[in-house]
Amino acid sequence: MTAPPPSITDVSDETLARWLAEHGEPPYRARQIRRSVARSAAADWSGLTDLPLALRSKLAEAFRWSSVELETEIASADGETRKALLRLHDGHHVETVLMPHHGERDAVCISSQVGCPMACAFCATGEMGWIRDLTAGEIVDQVRFWQRELRSRDARVSHVDYMGMGEPLRNYAPVMASVRLLTDVDMFGISPRRITVSTCGIVPKMDDLAAEGIPINLAVSLHAADDATRTRIMPVGRKWDVDELLAACARYVERTKRRLTFEYILLAGVNDSAAHAERLARKIAGLGRTGMYHVNLIPVNPGAGDFARPSPEKMERFAGILERHGIAATVRISKGQDIAAGCGQLKVAEGRAAAAV
Ligand code: SF4
Repeated sequence: MTAPPPSITDVSDETLARWLAEHGEPPYRARQIRRSVARSAAADWSGLTDLPLALRSKLAEAFRWSSVELETEIASADGETRKALLRLHDGHHVETVLMPHHGERDAVCISSQVGCPMACAFCATGEMGWIRDLTAGEIVDQVRFWQRELRSRDARVSHVDYMGMGEPLRNYAPVMASVRLLTDVDMFGISPRRITVSTCGIVPKMDDLAAEGIPINLAVSLHAADDATRTRIMPVGRKWDVDELLAACARYVERTKRRLTFEYILLAGVNDSAAHAERLARKIAGLGRTGMYHVNLIPVNPGAGDFARPSPEKMERFAGILERHGIAATVRISKGQDIAAGCGQLKVAEGRAAAAV
């Protein structure tokens, strides 16, 4: 079986320049093609009407327009949040979510791997295990997918969160390549300050990220401030303990001068007690510069593991303890729960349905 042509978003500058020279095209076409591919809402090469027809035909033979194709798309009951399951060239799938916010922003959540090797106990993607890493093109093509969808209301993707399937820092080079594509002013032109990379705490890669000099946001999935609780729900805690992880967070803040967000999924009876909140507050306060840290408290989504969410009163009490210690905290109800918009949930739900047939 012959391999499909590469997706244009996975073609290097050198390869594209060589291809243009071989086809008698001037070098400036490379930049024009890159910009058009990133910004156009066209469904295929034929829609790039700023390029000559003959060139479009040759491009269509040599390079795929996109590395992702829509398999399923569903909208939440509020009609705002939308989730898509996208098919890759080898038959694997990834999911991506569009989260519009009152017409002010159109954030998308994207995947960085098919499945995930990190096996967090509360996460549906963790159940799947790791299948493969995505290429940089497969990552940015999720953004292009939503850009096409947003064309109907003349909007563009404004924010990008690497919080879908996979651990971004376990697929470091393609993720950073995709960040460079998204922030390139000649391509997507998205401000790095509107891009958030989320990690479960791959400590050496957090240091690498701090050294990149790109002012993106970092979100660290902490979920417990003591090792016994954290390793119970996050196996990564056996490799780097809470203190090592928090030290890496402090180094990140020190080096980048960027605020850092701690994600904390609230699991009833597991990590939601007043003692857990006190310990979390003390640990963060111990880092100094507490104004540089924010805690997102997220009640667990139903669907993965046997976890339940705490009562609203308990969540408020948890947030109140953090605030009394001077730690900014927000209880965040994740949107789109009726469409399984938690990470990996649509893919896993489809897999279960297929297994049940
Ligand atoms: S929470 Fe994130 S890091 Fe953990 S298993 Fe799920 S996708 Fe992987």
